Amino acid sequence: MSNHIRVRIAPSPTGPLHIGTARTSLFNWLFAKKNNGIFVLRIEDTDLERSNSKFEEDIKNSLDWLGLEWDEFYKQSERLDIYKKYLQKLLDEKKAFWCFHSIEKLKKESDEQMKRKEAPRHICEHKYKEPTDKNNGIIRLKVDENSTRTIHFNDIIRGTVEWQEKLIGDLSLAKNLDAPLYNFAVVVDDHETKISHVIRGEDHISNTPKQILIQEALGIKIPQYAHLPLILGSDRTKLSKRHGAESVQEYMDMGYLPEVMINFMTLLGWHPPKDIKKKGGKPEDIFTVSELTEIFELKDVQKSPAVFDIKKLNWVNGYYIHQLPPEQFKAVIAPFILKEIGEKIEVKSEYLDKIRHLMTERMKKLSDIKNFDYFFKEPEYDRGLLNWKNISAVEIKKSLTLVKEALESIDWNFFDKNYIKKKLDDLAKDKFNGDRGAVYWPLRVSLTGKQGSPNPIDILSVLPKETVIERLNKAIGK
Ligand SMILES: [Zn+2]
Repeated sequence: MSNHIRVRIAPSPTGPLHIGTARTSLFNWLFAKKNNGIFVLRIEDTDLERSNSKFEEDIKNSLDWLGLEWDEFYKQSERLDIYKKYLQKLLDEKKAFWCFHSIEKLKKESDEQMKRKEAPRHICEHKYKEPTDKNNGIIRLKVDENSTRTIHFNDIIRGTVEWQEKLIGDLSLAKNLDAPLYNFAVVVDDHETKISHVIRGEDHISNTPKQILIQEALGIKIPQYAHLPLILGSDRTKLSKRHGAESVQEYMDMGYLPEVMINFMTLLGWHPPKDIKKKGGKPEDIFTVSELTEIFELKDVQKSPAVFDIKKLNWVNGYYIHQLPPEQFKAVIAPFILKEIGEKIEVKSEYLDKIRHLMTERMKKLSDIKNFDYFFKEPEYDRGLLNWKNISAVEIKKSLTLVKEALESIDWNFFDKNYIKKKLDDLAKDKFNGDRGAVYWPLRVSLTGKQGSPNPIDILSVLPKETVIERLNKAIGK
């Protein structure tokens, strides 16, 4: 039975792949994997004016990057003959008809209905007439405006959803035989590609009764529906630009890992079963892709909206980056070193091994490598940053000089953090009344050019001695 599971996602190439569509794709993909089903990618590009092939590329690249490979691919613009055949069938059977009302007239009608707070619907008198001039009309489905029937479907996530048939009006199906409209093309494609489960965003709920009417008119099987909850921003309004990055590409560019996006997006509205046993002492909410494909069930998707919490995403991403094995870390960080630090930087593999954890303990995303530029090149900073509390510039210079002398006397081949710490602590005690900041702050700034960094002694432990002395000299010169 399970090999009959076929699901699809159907993005329009009118913009880059949005996080919401990516989450829908992921839930479809997980459902297909869990059930040995087929995952279909369908590009809904019948709106030629708004569709752009560069967005089709973005959608494919983003799905690729996330690892959501599709088993079958369709493009609506290549299927116009198929829709035409079904449109003609409905016209021949007198289930559909030509409506000749002008766009202006229809717009006025729906504006007035909205003003009266009614659901916009068009009840067309042309359905009782023989068509005359087909060039100026659109094709509609005959829907009984006096119907007392309630259309209902059983949503896997939301339970029974009901709709009064009489509120729908004569549904538009196509602008003409070669230009199907959204709901019609969706129904035909879902049928032709044998989609068993339609898993999509909650914003499609109102399309469902319309699509059911079309399915009934065509005499085709109605798929199972599952409508996923909305995704809200942290302020509980619908996720939008105001909340930050919206497209998968932007997260890719900032240095979020694809496995993190999968882990994080799965938890946008889905909860692991309560009895799930965590392996290997991993924190709660950390799941690998293969774990998810084993435990994902649509019944564990919530009805209420999910909240996109960027702090949580950052935490998960930081956790994964820190856990990356050395070789994998080097592979993923390399392009970010190029981009954020500079093209001419050459980084030795052993050096990256040494500084890796100093950075990953403090990284949320790979582009944060820019906060550690001092590991790769001389820092740039204003001399004012060297100041510590109300200590004079002369005293700062004295501190830097004493630190330099202390470090010069040390053999870097026998680097001992505790020994150096003791030396610097003694310096603070003897020369600066025990004010450790007077010693460590100017040192930190000389080495990093930054206010925040790992412990200066940890930085000393990875930088070559000549580099340390050179940076101290530069600071003294300031
Ligand atoms: Zn009409």
